Amino acid sequence: MRTEYLVLEVLNLSEKPENLQQMVDLLKQGATLTELSCPACASPLFRFRNSELWCAKCEKRVIVVREEAEVEKAKSNANLMALENTLMTKIEKLKQKISDEENVDELQKLSAALASFLENLEKLKKMKVT
Ligand SMILES: [Zn+2]
Repeated sequence: MRTEYLVLEVLNLSEKPENLQQMVDLLKQGATLTELSCPACASPLFRFRNSELWCAKCEKRVIVVREEAEVEKAKSNANLMALENTLMTKIEKLKQKISDEENVDELQKLSAALASFLENLEKLKKMKVT
């Protein structure tokens, strides 16, 4: 079993094949046996062409929930990327302002702001988990 499939949940859904013949037909259509086993009965799981996992013994659809840490990592990276995009937009606007600005005092303020945005952008990039 691959490590990213740590938590399995059996869903009690009504969308199951109506009878065994239908199941057999599905298998003929190319459902494959996977290396995953059912969390409820430990039978090997089948994978349908639409990538759904199925336990033939329980007659239930099985969904794979990625490891908690994986989910958290994905969420936090998404947040960082959103923040990064915001910063990029601000930086672009600041660049424009700087090129239009003639006043030296204002220019100093703007370039200080730009420097801090760039610094934060660098920090963000380092925070991203790969
Ligand atoms: Zn099962």
